Amino acid sequence: MTINGGISFWYATDQTATHRPPRAPLTGHATADVVIVGGGYTGLWTAYYLKTAAPDLRVTVLEQKFCGYGASGRNGGWLYNGIAGRDRYAQLHGHHAALRLQRAMNDTVTEVIDTAAKESIDADIHRGGVLEVARTPAQLSRLRAFHAAELAFGESDRELYDATDTRARVDVADAVGSTWTPHGARIHPLKLVKGLAAACERLGVVIHESTPVTEIAPRRAITPYGTVRAPYVLRCTEGFTAALKGQKRSWLPMNSSMIATAPLPPEVWSRIGWSDAFTLGDMAHAYMYAQRTADDRIAIGGRGVPYRFGSRTDTDGTTQQSTIDSLTALLTSFFPALTGVEITHAWSGVLGVPRDWCATVTLDRTTGLGWAGGYVGSGVATSNLAARTLRDLVLGETSDLTTLPWVDHRVRRWEPEPFRWLGVQALYAAYREADRHETATHTPRTTPLARLADRISGRH
Ligand SMILES: Cc1cc2nc3c(=O)[nH]c(=O)nc-3n(C[C@H](O)[C@H](O)[C@H](O)COP(=O)(O)OP(=O)(O)OC[C@H]3O[C@@H](n4cnc5c(N)ncnc54)[C@H](O)[C@@H]3O)c2cc1C
Repeated sequence: MTINGGISFWYATDQTATHRPPRAPLTGHATADVVIVGGGYTGLWTAYYLKTAAPDLRVTVLEQKFCGYGASGRNGGWLYNGIAGRDRYAQLHGHHAALRLQRAMNDTVTEVIDTAAKESIDADIHRGGVLEVARTPAQLSRLRAFHAAELAFGESDRELYDATDTRARVDVADAVGSTWTPHGARIHPLKLVKGLAAACERLGVVIHESTPVTEIAPRRAITPYGTVRAPYVLRCTEGFTAALKGQKRSWLPMNSSMIATAPLPPEVWSRIGWSDAFTLGDMAHAYMYAQRTADDRIAIGGRGVPYRFGSRTDTDGTTQQSTIDSLTALLTSFFPALTGVEITHAWSGVLGVPRDWCATVTLDRTTGLGWAGGYVGSGVATSNLAARTLRDLVLGETSDLTTLPWVDHRVRRWEPEPFRWLGVQALYAAYREADRHETATHTPRTTPLARLADRISGRH
């Protein structure tokens, strides 16, 4: 029996999460120096760094459900150095600026690991890097081009492996090559967000759960239970942003779905390999991501239903059966030894996608409104860099972080419906078709359809 929804596998299996009493909601009007909307990584890291730098600051976090309800409690647990929009930022601000951003992301992986250790947050962190495999000739061409481009960009510690070397690390069926970077770690996403919330409270941050903010305006966050007034109001709502008044077309809530297997016995692991628990991805257009969990399962994710009409989000992670079936098929195509394996959990979540697919962090000094997000699928580490940047912006400090090229980047809004829905459906239909064509024909070239989809979507 597969448990479908229940927020996520991480939530459903983490006993302390289910038994912890919820934090009290807001009960009337209040004031603060900084009010943060959203209790995910972005909001909580921001509260954490603000309070660490300025212990007297009154920081309040308002969370509609509970800390970790969003993507931060549901993700694939890749803590890695990818940042959405780096190449666009290189075009806009030059190579040196983009390289500074990339180096800051590399450091962020270490920052999260070190801070978790400092705060005694046990989030099953294992630093094994990230391995991405190619399984078709076209994927291999992209993999080689990607590897060469990363070396040319300045990421000199990336490795390239052939089929034999790949198999020595993990026995993925049909793997013809792979690339590995050390800038990544496997984490238990919910343990990190829960530990972070507890660390914030130890520092004196006020967290109200079950407190939905209906509107954000200059110097106030409005909820059904009262308004919190503060000189700074920071929106950290990522995939849920469209539900806020006036934000319908800012960031598109893109869906991502995952499944987890039952714990796998040692004899299965000895066939698969994957003894160092690096995170695992591929070079398909509709790419997958996976981790070997601390309790020896495989958690694997992919796109499923990419977008719901009208920017709607799922109900507590409930996932369509067709998506569960296709992720199960993907899992067994990677690892035929897992045919018939029990899938214990399936869930989904939303990530925030800006119109140009570029992550941003911004503070408008005149209104006191700030926000960070649009991380697309790479927010586990990026949210930490965003939070340290928001800290410096709020404290009025010019730093290495506040001069990074993603700060204060603005982009146009998404198209109104039905064009938004039709566009995303067409985009993912094109990627699926391109993957199917590349697998069937063994062509070494990326299908023009995928290149066209990239160009039209504004993704590259
Ligand atoms: C299935 C899945 C897999 C992913 N895998 C990875 C991965 O492996 N690696 C990676 O780097 N990234 C991954 N991501 C993306 C990553 O999880 C997110 O980018 C990151 O967690 C974003 O953190 P956040 O705090 O900005 O947003 P969230 O974690 O979504 O937090 C936003 C919070 O705001 C609250 N909120 C929203 N609206 C309101 C409101 N009006 N009032 C009050 N509270 C509100 C929500 O309840 C939520 O708790 C994945 C995402 C998903 C969905």
